[in-house]
Amino acid sequence: MDYGVYIHIPFCRKKCGYCDFPSVAGHEADMESYTEALCAELAAKGEQLASQGNAATIYIGGGTPTALPVPLLARVIQTARAVLPTAEDLEFTVEANPGTVTLETMTMLSALGVNRVSIGAQEFNDAILKRIGRIHTAQDIRDAVRWARAALIVNVSVDLMYGLPGQTMDDLQWSVGSSMDLAVNHISVYGLTVENGTPFAREQENGTLNLPSDEAEEEMYDYLAETLPKFGFRRYEISNYARHDFTCRHNLGYWQDLPYFGFGAAAHSYHDGRRTANTRDIGAYIRAIKNGESPTHTEETVTREKHIEEFCFLALRTATGIDREKFAKTFEQEMESLYKKSIDNLKAKKYLEETPTHFRLTPLGMKFGNQAFSSFLL
Ligand code: SF4
Repeated sequence: MDYGVYIHIPFCRKKCGYCDFPSVAGHEADMESYTEALCAELAAKGEQLASQGNAATIYIGGGTPTALPVPLLARVIQTARAVLPTAEDLEFTVEANPGTVTLETMTMLSALGVNRVSIGAQEFNDAILKRIGRIHTAQDIRDAVRWARAALIVNVSVDLMYGLPGQTMDDLQWSVGSSMDLAVNHISVYGLTVENGTPFAREQENGTLNLPSDEAEEEMYDYLAETLPKFGFRRYEISNYARHDFTCRHNLGYWQDLPYFGFGAAAHSYHDGRRTANTRDIGAYIRAIKNGESPTHTEETVTREKHIEEFCFLALRTATGIDREKFAKTFEQEMESLYKKSIDNLKAKKYLEETPTHFRLTPLGMKFGNQAFSSFLL
């Protein structure tokens, strides 16, 4: 069976105010030894993976992969390509922060077979970008997309955020318009969540965060859901919109219950009914690999019950929804035998609809996704 590969680069130039991802700033001194460890982990597992089939997708995320100097990032990509068995139509994505790329970066990515870049734009208003701690300007985003195109990378995605401090509907409309001007093929949109332990959480406690009201945030959500399809973007997942067939195949793999293998600090893997996670500690990760030990920190067997729940939550995130036949084949049970009451409730609320082959969320159900997902807890 084909699978996805995720490679984690845990470095950033500076931490953004809202971010609780596993990433650190100011660790430039660790980049070389981290790259060596990562390449060693890839080489060690590459052979084992051959027996599992081909990697259909590779995704280098972070952190900020492009915070690595170009020769180090090139080494990671070359190693991945050399040691992993890959499908002919491999989708190879690298996340890029516009403040860390040049034409040289994009040219290197393209020359080494990267065919998709996901650019962390977030906003096109420089004052808001600064307010949320981003290191780039709107012009940097425009340059990054143009350089990707100049390097012949056709498949370009941007991430946008809404519900940001000081952000207005005008700002969001400007960001969407600016993304349209750049003719990107894919847009991911995320509402701000204030995560514990972040600078934004402290500002919220002090009353200085200045977030849009709940009503304003809901308007922003509605604006995105209504406007992006008018520009030819199909909403194929709650937070993801694609033109034509430029969906992110890697992320679709997560939502479709496909196996994946993670490499690097904090990377997760999921296959054969088991989920494992590497240590988040960069130093511990490097030491483990150097000493020939496993960097795995946690390991769990996914119970049947948990598997059923996750299968449903994840598939429901997609526009296609839950494939009823796949469910029945995977769990040797019809969905209705477990969820009849929940399905009827969600249908009555107009959150869920039924087709001959699938159960899927309606646009209203997507808006209140968490309520819908909780109905699938066993
Ligand atoms: S660039 Fe991305 S990973 Fe790094 S701190 Fe900002 S949001 Fe987090």
